[in-house]
Order: sequence, then structure tokens, then C-alpha cells
Amino acid sequence: MQRNILIIGACGQIGTELTFTLREKHGSDIVIASDIREGNENLMDSGPFELLDATDYDALEEVVAYYEIDEVYLMAAMLSATAEKFPMRAWNLNMNSLFNVLNLAKEKKISKVFWPSSIAVFGPNTPTDHTPQNTIMEPSTVYGISKQSGERWCEYYHNKFGVDVRSVRYPGLISWKTMPGGGTTDYAVEIYHKALSDGAYTCFLNADTMLPMMFMDDAIRATMELMESDFDKIKIRSAYNLAAMSFTPAEVASSIASHIPQFKVNYEPDARQAIANSWPGSIDDSHAQKDWGWKAAFDLEKTTIEMLKNLK
Ligand code: NAD
Repeated sequence: MQRNILIIGACGQIGTELTFTLREKHGSDIVIASDIREGNENLMDSGPFELLDATDYDALEEVVAYYEIDEVYLMAAMLSATAEKFPMRAWNLNMNSLFNVLNLAKEKKISKVFWPSSIAVFGPNTPTDHTPQNTIMEPSTVYGISKQSGERWCEYYHNKFGVDVRSVRYPGLISWKTMPGGGTTDYAVEIYHKALSDGAYTCFLNADTMLPMMFMDDAIRATMELMESDFDKIKIRSAYNLAAMSFTPAEVASSIASHIPQFKVNYEPDARQAIANSWPGSIDDSHAQKDWGWKAAFDLEKTTIEMLKNLK
């Protein structure tokens, strides 16, 4: 059966690649991209696009009715570093866009929702190594508070109204097709660009800041595998822990230097260091493995090879 899909926030780092991959799989016409701004040329040329503000319920409802949408991927959000600068705007966007989509599902106007959470739901009191699915959370950032609240609401809408909402806690994502959008793990993308363009990079986190990371291909595959899983297999309706690798800026620098020996990195931590310090170093994703068969394919070395090859 044909399922029409709407991607909200399709021009961002994840939305762009998700749109391409869903269009390859299901055909361009049934995958509608939308965002508050236009995306890059490749995205705009690849299929239908609507300018849409995710906080405007009426506009969203109209697009959903017009295209007879079944499934929504809500990728619009304000990310961690930017949200610290604009707390109220972040809260408004991150929460109201989610309520709009959950309410459409509650009203049976759509049948399935993907909404991403983040490792930012964890906080300074969370165990940092192999952070379990269920543990102390207490996020200390605006972004993390919005994601944790979002998780609680997703679970509530599932339990109370039967909404089929699915979510993962993405780690920091590394990609070459689109630049990241204002997060704390952006360094892990910038460093590859600068290694190739300047042979040097000034990193805004300390050399030994260990964070959970994932290559974009893994993140897109996880998203699609979760959405394609049978309803009954999805036991967690807040958000699944999801992992692939963990590394420090010094480790990614040395991985790049094994291909570009003259590459040099300086460390000048800024406000983003405090955010990174509040997050786990590694994640236990055994529930995702057990419930819907998740397994990452990219480690740091494979990621470095892909990034350098494609950015060249
Ligand atoms: P991004 O900032 O690159 O993209 C977000 C997109 O949303 C942008 O294209 C922006 O124009 C759009 N947008 C902003 N306001 C909007 C509005 N009112 N209506 C419609 N669109 C709007 O973000 P991303 O990295 O692609 O992240 C997507 C989702 O994944 C977010 O929920 C984010 O919190 C989550 N996430 C991302 C990462 C990561 O490393 N990239 C990690 C964990 C979680």
C-alpha cells in the first residue's frame, strides 16, 4: 500500500539525507519535503517541496490533507548550542511542533510519527559510560529539557491515545552532504572540512572530550528500520538509546592525520564545552538491538575514509 510521507525540517543536516533516501526507496512523488526555508539545489530538484512552519497547526493540517499524508518525520528543532542563546524560541519550536504532529496523529489525520530525541536528554548526574536506557536524566540544557519533555509526551500520547510514535536518541551525527545546524558535536563535521581546506583546525571542545557519535548513513538506516518495524516490536515509546562509536577530538584528529600527516589541531574550548561535559561518553543501545535488530556499521576509521573521500 502506498504511504505518503511528509518530512518537516527537510532542509537540515538529517532531513536532507532522509529525504533523498526515502525518495530513492519509495519514489519522489510520495515523499513531500517541507521546511521554513528552501534547501540546497539537489534537494529542491529532487521532488515536491512545501514552505511550512511546523509551529503553525492550520498550515500543517492543510499540507497533510492536500497530500493525503500518512507518515510524518518531524526533523525541525533548535539544536543545543543555538538553544542556549534563544531559550524561549527553542522551547516554542521544539515543543509546539511536536504537539502539532502528535495532535494530528491523535485526531487520526496521520497514522505514524517519527520524532528524534537526543543524547542531550542526559545530564551531569547520569552515569557517563555505557549510559543505560533507563537511568538518571536531569538534563541541564534548554535543548535537553525540551527533548526530555518531548519523550514524556510521546510516551503519553502512545499510552493514552494509541499514537504510533517512534523515536531514537541520536548521538552526534557526522555527514558530508549538509553542514550541521548549531549543535555541540558540530566540531566532528567541521574538522574534516578544515583538514582538507586548511590542513589545520581550531576545535571548540577540549582534546579529551569523549562523546557518542554516528555516521549519517547509520542514522538514516536506524530511522528507517525503526519506522518499518512491526508495531508490536516497538516496546519503548519515549525514545531508544542508539549508539555506533565514541571518540574524543584528539582521536578524530589522529584518525584524519593517518590520511593527512601534516594536519594540525588547536584546542580553544568555548561555551559548548560545558554542554559537552553534561553529556554521556558512551551509550548502551541493547534495547534497540534486541527489539528491532539495530546494529551500527560505521566506526571512526570507516567514517574518516568516507568523509575525506566525499569532501575531496
Ligand atoms: P538542523 O538544524 O540541521 O535542521 C533543522 C531544520 O528545521 C532546518 O532546515 C530548519 O530550517 C528547519 N526549521 C526550523 N524552524 C522550523 C519551523 N518553524 N518549521 C519548519 N522547519 C523549521 O537539524 P538536524 O541536525 O537535521 O536535526 C534534526 C533533528 O534531529 C532535530 O530534532 C535534532 O534535535 C535531532 N538531533 C540531531 C542531531 C545531530 O547531530 N544533527 C543529534 C541528535 C538529535
